[in-house]
Amino acid sequence: MLAECGKTKVLCTVSVQDQVPPWMYKRNAGGWLTAEYAMLPGAGQPRKPRDGRTGRPLDGRSQEIQRLIGRALRCAVDLGALPEVTLWVDCDVLQADGGTRTTAINGALVALYDALLWMEEQKQLPKWPLRGLVSAVSVGLVGGEAMIDLDYDEDSSADVDLNIVCAADGRMIEVQGAAERQPFSIEQLQSMLQLAQDGCSRVRELQQKTLGL
Ligand code: UDP
Repeated sequence: MLAECGKTKVLCTVSVQDQVPPWMYKRNAGGWLTAEYAMLPGAGQPRKPRDGRTGRPLDGRSQEIQRLIGRALRCAVDLGALPEVTLWVDCDVLQADGGTRTTAINGALVALYDALLWMEEQKQLPKWPLRGLVSAVSVGLVGGEAMIDLDYDEDSSADVDLNIVCAADGRMIEVQGAAERQPFSIEQLQSMLQLAQDGCSRVRELQQKTLGL
């Protein structure tokens, strides 16, 4: 699934591995879902060294983003309803212009749905494990105004940068953000959250359309 949001492009795939992590062995706790995120070297400016090639561990930003993607998607799935498999979610950023983590979540959810349909066809699912769609958007305060889907230039000049993940009923799954210049008030937070909730519901409609739901 190639997810695009403005100039940001993220390739999202989900692979099913017939094994759970060692800490889940013999617990009969169902399956697991985990995510990996990487930016290709030419996805942004300047070139980003390819992960793993320089002998350095995965950078902190990629690690934080892949854990966010994993948490968001695990919230969408009833893991106990899965057989003993690991769903590997891979998000590779081909082009980055802000909002790569939210675009990754939106695309990964569609890829996850496809993977579950495939498992159902293979008769691997005793029951449908997806609780609902999950969508995400970035919002921020730029020049005192709440803005949605910040591109790189807007993101770089934002006073506040927030990433929001929502469940299908609009409730929040994760609110990740901070003031990068000026502190913000509860009223400003509320206006950003409202904008984000509306945005998530529009993304959800696009996910439904893509999946033919
Ligand atoms: N960016 C980049 N190289 C990097 C990190 C970030 O080009 O190593 C750019 C890219 O456009 C990215 C934006 O900075 O989308 C904002 O990065 P942030 O860490 O806020 O994550 P994102 O908004 O992509 O989820």
